[in-house]
Amino acid sequence: MNQTGPSSGLEVIDLRSDTLTKPTTGMRAAIAAAEVGDDVFGEDPTVQRLEKRVAEILGKEAAMFVPSGSMSNQVAIRTHTQPGDEILVDETAHVALYEAGAPAALSGVMCHYLRGDRGRFTGADVRAAIRPANVHFPPTRLVVVENTSNRGGGSVWTLDQVRDVAQTARELGLRLHMDGARLWNACVATGVSEAEYAAEFDSVSVCFSKGLGAPVGSALAGSAGFIARARRFRKMFGGGMRQAGILAAAALYALEHHRSRLKEDHANAALLARGLAGLPGIHLDPATVETNIVIFDVAGDHAARFVERLETVGVRMLAVGPGRVRAVTHLHISEADIQEALERIRRVWPPQG
Ligand SMILES: *Cc1c(COP(=O)(O)O)cnc(C)c1O
Repeated sequence: MNQTGPSSGLEVIDLRSDTLTKPTTGMRAAIAAAEVGDDVFGEDPTVQRLEKRVAEILGKEAAMFVPSGSMSNQVAIRTHTQPGDEILVDETAHVALYEAGAPAALSGVMCHYLRGDRGRFTGADVRAAIRPANVHFPPTRLVVVENTSNRGGGSVWTLDQVRDVAQTARELGLRLHMDGARLWNACVATGVSEAEYAAEFDSVSVCFSKGLGAPVGSALAGSAGFIARARRFRKMFGGGMRQAGILAAAALYALEHHRSRLKEDHANAALLARGLAGLPGIHLDPATVETNIVIFDVAGDHAARFVERLETVGVRMLAVGPGRVRAVTHLHISEADIQEALERIRRVWPPQG
């Protein structure tokens, strides 16, 4: 709990997103102590340290610090493609649905949607979608895998599922990008290392500002040649930052201190899911909750009503469709907060009369 609810007098339990996290005291100390320089001149030692550390964790030659996950993904798409190309993405993909039309606007590419299982598609899906070489068709260039899948409810790709897609993509001469905004959660949930997942991809994007709790920042990793070309597009998209070491210091702190604790978020999400699943009109199979995201349906398309009722008792969730609600656990949510949230929800749901 970290905010005060003005109407109810109760402390707000905010489950709308893991981006709501604020820097901890330890993180603020790391920020204050950071050595900085002009990173566009290549002179910020803390940014360099972060880039080296991220490349090491992901087992890639190089990495580049960027202001956001959206920029990281879109710089990757721009670096991999030419205008007129087509990219294969799941129909729920963040790169296509929540990045303001950037694939079309910034790279001039078409998105070809695959219909996966909660964000996860197969090698066969990729094979079925690829365009034959013919003047009528956009060349298929890139496959994007989102792990964990946000709209899939934090669903995790197993290493076998990733390898199936990666092997097919390679056979077909396609490039591979992973939107790993929550790759950390996938690794904690499966025990697969970041490097094992990343080995299957030409480029990988990771975020520090979600469950890891840094205020700002993401990174893009790949071969040295790929990152050298990506640096120009980062500058073109307005992402060249100056004394960014104060942000990189927070990211380094988050990597060190907030990765393994994600298992607590997963346990809290499972606890929340079990509690919600017992409520009338709520459709949720707790077995589908694999990480820190809980997505469920409210009968009668009453998502907005459900969220409004919760607001009156100081519990916040996000309506992500007419009948669909998302709740996310994070750094500032304890097990006691989840127990308290469930108790408050039972007071207002189902609505009386
Ligand atoms: C949050 C998120 C991003 C990046 O979002 P930004 O707000 O641009 O940092 C990318 N992909 C997924 C799956 C996300 O959930």
